[in-house]
Amino acid sequence: MHLVMIGGSDAGISAALRARELDPAADVTVVLEDAYPNFSICGIPYYVSGEVDHWRNLAHRTVADLEATGMRLRTDTAARRIDVPGRKLQLTSPGQGEEVLSYDKLIVGTGAVPVRPPIGGLAGPGALGPGDGVHLLHSMGDTFAVMRTLDQAAPASVVIVGAGYIGLEMADALTVRGLQVTQMEQLPEVLPTVDPELGTLVHGELAARGVDVLTGTAVQAISKAPPGEAGRLEVQATAGDGTAVTRAADMVLVVVGVRPETALAAEAGAELGVKDAIAVDPGMRTNLPDVYAAGDCVITHHRLLGVTYLPLGTTAHKQGRVAGENTLGGNRAFAGSLGTQVVKIFDQAAARTGLRDHEAAAAGFDPVTTETQADDHKAYYPGSHRITIRVTGDRATGRLLGMQLFGHRHAEIAKRVDIAATAIFHGMTVDAISDLDLSYTPPLGSPWDAVQMAAQAWTRAAPRH
Ligand SMILES: Cc1cc2nc3c(=O)[nH]c(=O)nc-3n(C[C@H](O)[C@H](O)[C@H](O)COP(=O)(O)OP(=O)(O)OC[C@H]3O[C@@H](n4cnc5c(N)ncnc54)[C@H](O)[C@@H]3O)c2cc1C
Repeated sequence: MHLVMIGGSDAGISAALRARELDPAADVTVVLEDAYPNFSICGIPYYVSGEVDHWRNLAHRTVADLEATGMRLRTDTAARRIDVPGRKLQLTSPGQGEEVLSYDKLIVGTGAVPVRPPIGGLAGPGALGPGDGVHLLHSMGDTFAVMRTLDQAAPASVVIVGAGYIGLEMADALTVRGLQVTQMEQLPEVLPTVDPELGTLVHGELAARGVDVLTGTAVQAISKAPPGEAGRLEVQATAGDGTAVTRAADMVLVVVGVRPETALAAEAGAELGVKDAIAVDPGMRTNLPDVYAAGDCVITHHRLLGVTYLPLGTTAHKQGRVAGENTLGGNRAFAGSLGTQVVKIFDQAAARTGLRDHEAAAAGFDPVTTETQADDHKAYYPGSHRITIRVTGDRATGRLLGMQLFGHRHAEIAKRVDIAATAIFHGMTVDAISDLDLSYTPPLGSPWDAVQMAAQAWTRAAPRH
């Protein structure tokens, strides 16, 4: 049985590891087009900031670790075509040129690529790129290009286009490196994946750290600055009231989201779904015989929404594991995402799981959302922090649907969003959160954890009839 994974990141490697774990006799080959298998691209901002001192440290596992599990790695090798009836893969690599690789089962883990928005100067003849200090960011290759600009051009200023979680992490990282950061976001508030009430708090942290945050500002064009200007690039944008905004900068980073990389699978006949991601069943099977897919290239089964597209590293790991198991005849199902995520912005953290009010309403629930502030641990013990918690529950059933948190990065925001994620996963009511036996000692918590206080506030605001 020869299993082949296309893609050597979270999904492909998780699948390969699981297959080798379940069947040490399985013949497993991972084909990836770059030379960086199993790198934690989630850690890129911390390498750029200098907090992680060498890019090699971003590897979840080294090549030697991976090969020691018994998998074969084909780095710098691009899959060009899938011959589904013949169960063959056409490959190209600098060393071996064109070749054909046979498989019994195939897992497509081609991931996502950064969106290149329709901004003047980013596409077409004469488009600006890394050599000009204009960057997109997703892969290790992109990261090396960013580092070359930082090391060789020594930029003093950067405009970051986009204020999603990667844009925020990069604002933090580049500020830590000493650059003056301007962040432009076309939506009314930063971190649009959380409610604006929390986005405002994130905005406050960015501003307090010297980031010039321009929300409601749509970038129109990036160009080389005329001679004599302060920066080498010029960014033209339009503010919400229609006025023109121009900023000079030495570097521009465009981070406005990703789209699934599906060309290979689609050309082979794979059915696509939401956001043109590859359609898979919960067992990660595509519509093509013996072809599975996992990670950022596939649609996401969501526990509350049904099918959506929610590309996250945690999800890619789980889906890859399911696919790896099922290629060996298993019958595992991906249990579904809740979109649980957390981001550090300087000394603060923001997190969410499940649905926000408008998402819950669109999904047919009758949502009520409340906001509570509670201390992360007893305030009499030094170093306590206030956490802002927004709870969304269903008025009709009392079921917990979502939670969002903002607070100091040492206030266990991640642990607390995970309590909510666990509760939602198991269909708990908001009221039942008070029954959870959570840990307590004054330096680390309270007899009623902050999450329980927020749940009690919701229950008071939305009594069930
Ligand atoms: C800066 C940054 C920070 C992030 N932070 C977080 C975070 O904190 N938490 C979180 O959950 N997620 C985070 N993510 C998202 C997370 O990294 C992705 O969800 C995850 O990497 C997806 O894994 P994947 O294996 O599906 O795809 P990808 O990581 O996109 O990898 C795709 C793989 O396929 C290969 N490939 C593609 N096409 C071909 C081909 N034709 N032939 C051969 N190989 C091919 C590529 O070389 C690569 O190995 C972050 C992403 C970035 C960029």
